[in-house]
Amino acid sequence: MKVTRVGQFGWQLTRMGVVNSYVVRERNGCTLLDANLPGSAREILQEVHKQGAGEVERILLTHAHGDHVGSVDELMASLGDVDLAISARAARLLPKKPAQDHSLDPDEPQCKMRGIFPGIDAMPTHLVNDGELFGSLRCIATPGHTPGHFSFFDERDGTLYAGDEIITVGGTARVSGYAPWYFPLPNFATWHRPTALESARTLADLPIQRIASGHGRIVEDASALLQAVREAASKS
Ligand SMILES: [Zn+2]
Repeated sequence: MKVTRVGQFGWQLTRMGVVNSYVVRERNGCTLLDANLPGSAREILQEVHKQGAGEVERILLTHAHGDHVGSVDELMASLGDVDLAISARAARLLPKKPAQDHSLDPDEPQCKMRGIFPGIDAMPTHLVNDGELFGSLRCIATPGHTPGHFSFFDERDGTLYAGDEIITVGGTARVSGYAPWYFPLPNFATWHRPTALESARTLADLPIQRIASGHGRIVEDASALLQAVREAASKS
């Protein structure tokens, strides 16, 4: 597992070269942002301790795709009584089948959801709302990659934890659904890309210093998001 520092408070944990989780240090312990592929729990917890990030007190999920929730159950089994947080909309896709709910709301684009939703056994203990401050992370609804996808903005150091709303493989930020040909996976897994573009426009209003994506390296460029929005808009 590769570890990279992110801003003043974060660490990026990368498996298989392209699947990222993040650890964000808080006043009490740390928050694990996304739970990577299955079989990652032991290595994640080893790295958290090695880096001196404190104890994992909460797991926060951007969305329910398999490469973001893969190790939630293993982590909950080792950590015991920690919070598990996700948006209410994304939580509908979190249980295993048949409890998993693939219905669309009347005001949502009536497109088929894509990507793999393997489901987990653990139940969320907290449902985050748009605009809420969860620890030091501002929770922002960024639907498009999936319904109910959320991004998280650390207002202390300007780091945007974008999940799969923004992809940075190759070192350039792209809006979900507009990823480059050499890493098309998030495109195939994107539910509705015009909605993802609208979400990226919302994010562009934030004072972002760097982008930390679910896939790809950290982009240290305050203008990267605006460029991604422009590029995506030119293709839509
Ligand atoms: Zn995804």
